[in-house]
Amino acid sequence: MRLAKRTPMMEQYETIKQTCEDALLFFRLGDFYELFYEDAKIASSILDLTLTGRGSGDQRMPMCGVPYHAADNYISRLVAKGFKVAICEQVEDPKETKGLVRREIIRLITPGTAHEFVRQDTYRPLIATFVELTEGIVEGAIADALTGNVWIKQGDYLALTNWFERMQVSEVVADDKLYATCAKHLKEYSVRANIAYSQVPAHEDADHSFESYSASQLLVTYLEHTSKRSLDHMKLPEAMGKDRFMELTASTIRHLEVIRPATEGRKDATLFDTLNFTSNAMGRRYLREMLEHPLYDLSIITQRLDMIEHLVKNPLLQGELQNGLKEMYDLTRIVSRISFGQVSPRDLWYLAQSLQVVAVLKKNIQATDSVSEIFAGIIQHLHECQELAQMIGSILSEEVLDNNKNGAIIKQGANTTIDELRAIVQGGRAHILSIEQAERVRTGIKSLKVGYNRVFGYYIEVTSANAHLVPDDYERKQTLTSAERYVTKELREREYEIVLANEKLAELELALIDEIVDVARAQLRQIQETADALGQLDALVGLAKAAISYHYTRPIVDHSCNMKIEGGRHPVVERHAVDGFIENDVLLSNDKRQIALITGPNMGGKSTYMRQTALIVIMAQIGSFVPAAFAQIGIVDKLFTRIGASDDVSAGLSTFMVEMTESAEILHEATDHSLLIFDEIGRGTATYDGMSIAEAIVEYVHDRIGARSLFATHYHELTELPRRLPRVFNLSVAVKEDDHQIVFLHRVVERFADRSYGIQVAQKAGLPESVTARARTILTELERGVQEIASTTQQMEFAFPDMQDVKQALYKEYLNEVMDLQLDEFTPKQALIYLYELQERI
Ligand code: ADP
Repeated sequence: MRLAKRTPMMEQYETIKQTCEDALLFFRLGDFYELFYEDAKIASSILDLTLTGRGSGDQRMPMCGVPYHAADNYISRLVAKGFKVAICEQVEDPKETKGLVRREIIRLITPGTAHEFVRQDTYRPLIATFVELTEGIVEGAIADALTGNVWIKQGDYLALTNWFERMQVSEVVADDKLYATCAKHLKEYSVRANIAYSQVPAHEDADHSFESYSASQLLVTYLEHTSKRSLDHMKLPEAMGKDRFMELTASTIRHLEVIRPATEGRKDATLFDTLNFTSNAMGRRYLREMLEHPLYDLSIITQRLDMIEHLVKNPLLQGELQNGLKEMYDLTRIVSRISFGQVSPRDLWYLAQSLQVVAVLKKNIQATDSVSEIFAGIIQHLHECQELAQMIGSILSEEVLDNNKNGAIIKQGANTTIDELRAIVQGGRAHILSIEQAERVRTGIKSLKVGYNRVFGYYIEVTSANAHLVPDDYERKQTLTSAERYVTKELREREYEIVLANEKLAELELALIDEIVDVARAQLRQIQETADALGQLDALVGLAKAAISYHYTRPIVDHSCNMKIEGGRHPVVERHAVDGFIENDVLLSNDKRQIALITGPNMGGKSTYMRQTALIVIMAQIGSFVPAAFAQIGIVDKLFTRIGASDDVSAGLSTFMVEMTESAEILHEATDHSLLIFDEIGRGTATYDGMSIAEAIVEYVHDRIGARSLFATHYHELTELPRRLPRVFNLSVAVKEDDHQIVFLHRVVERFADRSYGIQVAQKAGLPESVTARARTILTELERGVQEIASTTQQMEFAFPDMQDVKQALYKEYLNEVMDLQLDEFTPKQALIYLYELQERI
């Protein structure tokens, strides 16, 4: 027991708190939400609020509060930290109740359902869950509370946690048993998932045990539980089958910087940024979803390419559409507000405006037969909902857009009763003003005034000096320092009339708004379809615009296992390349040129080349034009990248472990239709280990998988592989060398690099002259040493025992080199580069 004697209100608090133990309870008291006990301690520290208290001594309970009208901001900050917030309101009018006002939780706001609160662009309200189908095989679902999208996918825990991470789910919903299982899997797999867990509330209906739900039903039930209402905008689940979508791992999306930059906050670094020429929020959302789900369905890819091609060729149409799309309000958000019961008159006004533009857009597309054929898939989902738009237009006045809430939101002439009531209010006010004149005459007090304030209503004010002149029927209300305020029977009656009329007016206005909302709700699906189609159209118009701006071409996507890219560019790097971007070709096929081994110095452009190939594939498979002079892409079922990233290390896993885990996944999952990208496999361990692993992986991919692959490597020994593996070939990035200086040409050529130019790169990076000169001497000695050994030892790579002596000698050299360093000459960066370079050599 926390308090010896609790007030009835605190008893009410305790009862309510028991129903939401895992949430911070915002308990409405007048104009504030108050938090108590532990909740208060947490909230005050996160929100920087003063912790106060009620009671004294042992019974003192910590508390803090936020003003209700500014609560959103506080709620969003708590939710962003992973907390849940329960909003408890007074559900009775305090004026009309004696004693304690009834209070109820009207809404739970959780990390995955906070779209009305969290304003960051990157935030999406995504919740997810699993349901086990058979041992080890689960159905996962993800729901988006804003758009109403629900996706389901089947697979093992690994595949699904991977999916959750890729989609950046904010919350996982689970029962006790599942909670334990999925927490384990998510933790094992995901090094950076920042996911909150929530329990599904026990269902009142005993027939509905947790197990009886499908994953998607469960999420909708949970959403309805948190919002305390039934939701009309949630869609039927869409299956994310392998036959429709390309598979991408979370790390691939991250490494390729498809949606988010590798370094948080960097602007313009992602593929999304590059392609984002959208005009409204729906388009932005759609583009993001396209990039998250590249297609594996040729017919949809072709449809999208057709539409983009048409827009590229018709700048006029494109411009017209874009003008219309710019004027669209975020209908998706309005739909969700209608569903969640939070729609405002202003939203309805925006809805009507947008629907009118929809009608214009539709006409523009339908003006030409060929166009309407190509865009048929979009047009059929654009509903102008004429009656609804007209209804809103005829009822709401433009004053809904005013920020002061006292505007007359219903149009004059829209409703006769409203007009009459307004006349009464106006008449009443005019009459009251006339009272001023009449009373001045009656009392002879020239300075007599009629005034109004919110506490006392209308009054007659007389200066104190004249107070002795007031007639007997004046009733004193309030005394000020230099004046007295009175009311009369007449004033009171008139005021009552006005108050009454105003109350009725407010009631009627609300009823009319409700009527509109009901009509809108009845057409929610159509509005939602329209919003989705608009998003799609906007994203496509934007892609056409990107294609024109950056000179992209239409790719040929087919079912082959080939890839031919001529004059390919990296879509992001080319926009930032000051000295121009060097185009490169890619020619892959799984019967002849399956695996490219790419060698060459650091900074030569290997990684850019591989990434651009992956990005071109992603672009082609979302149906976009691509940065190349020509591109033929045999459709890719799964795209894997194994690219070392420094953030893996900071997350606490060893680089090598991450590398091997990801490689294992690739080797298990890849097929002959996949595209694999390995950037320097085997780096995180000793040279011979790493090299052996790299070689074994290449062999495996060559013999067992048959996937088109790009391998960048520092192990020059691997360049021998084409001799025994027929589908492996060498590429390297060209450099020009003159007088110990190298120039990166960034051109990919069909040969292997015989040297790694480590010293030259180090020199370019600004390593002190004495170090690079010394390094050159050592290198020459080493090369001589290795040659001698090689001539006496066959199969050098695997002759470990014989290598022992050489190694000893080399280590000694390295040791001397390090001892000779003039450390004072180094900047920290140079030292780091030196270390890298040294490590490379060792
Ligand atoms: P590597 O992987 O070989 O170390 P990167 O691919 O990281 O090299 O390239 C190093 C830098 O060179 C990139 O940051 C980029 O600015 C530039 N670069 C790479 N490829 C090209 C290119 N084709 N055209 C112009 N600049 C390029």
